[in-house]
Amino acid sequence: MSTNRTFTMIKPDAVANGHIGAIINDITAAGFRIIALKYTKLTAETAGKFYEVHKDRPFYGNLVTFMSSGPIVAAILEKDNAIEDFRKLIGATNPAQAEDGTIRKKYAESIEANAVHGSDSDENAAIEGDFFFTAAERF
Ligand code: UDP
Repeated sequence: MSTNRTFTMIKPDAVANGHIGAIINDITAAGFRIIALKYTKLTAETAGKFYEVHKDRPFYGNLVTFMSSGPIVAAILEKDNAIEDFRKLIGATNPAQAEDGTIRKKYAESIEANAVHGSDSDENAAIEGDFFFTAAERF
């Protein structure tokens, strides 16, 4: 089953490299509507909680340090088939393997500093959106 919402973050590398505007433009040009949007910074604690599912993976410690190293942009997005279409728009986790034209291919630095997050399921999109946004912050 596919629903119509996903959650994204523009990660600290893409923010630091000045890509916020270009990435939001790519997202809206692909037909996603912005439901909620926030410029904020994760602490090591909140980044650790967000990526808790990866806590036993070897990259977890570095990922938490990276994700709390600078500001991020968080957003809830709406479109038919949002999860799958957004994962296609951002490309493979490793930008070296991402297809031409994808956000990660264009803006990412490495498999860790890979420019954007995209939810991998409807269930996680709901959990991740709730992590950042109250009901009153969604339009
Ligand atoms: N990551 C990493 N090293 C790896 C795999 C993943 O640093 O070998 C980071 C990367 O930032 C990635 C995040 O951990 O986006 C979550 O990994 P996942 O496998 O869920 O990839 P995604 O769903 O973001 O493509």
